[in-house]
Amino acid sequence: MKEVLLAVLILLAIGLLLGLGLVVAAKVLHVKEDERIEEVTKRLPNYNCGSCGYAGCKSMAEAIVSGKEENLKKCKPGKEETNFKPIIEYLDNHPNEDGSKVKVHL
Ligand code: SF4
Repeated sequence: MKEVLLAVLILLAIGLLLGLGLVVAAKVLHVKEDERIEEVTKRLPNYNCGSCGYAGCKSMAEAIVSGKEENLKKCKPGKEETNFKPIIEYLDNHPNEDGSKVKVHL
């Protein structure tokens, strides 16, 4: 009986140590994401169809915010009034850290 109890305690200790390791790793390795990516993603159609050439809407949003993609009309299902204009307006009001604007066009 003592052996079983000892084995359970050892497993609990290992689980606790691994859990603490995960918590520390999550804190140390945390990468802060640009909040504009989430906001631009919200304004895209979110069909995740890939017809823009990106893996999905979030990938397209990352490309837009990073400046790699300027042409919003690559999003084929996107609509000017409901998607593109809100993105342009949002990005106009949320420039890069150096004050420059994210370049996008229709
Ligand atoms: S084309 Fe538009 S809806 Fe489709 S994945 Fe790209 S951004 Fe999303």
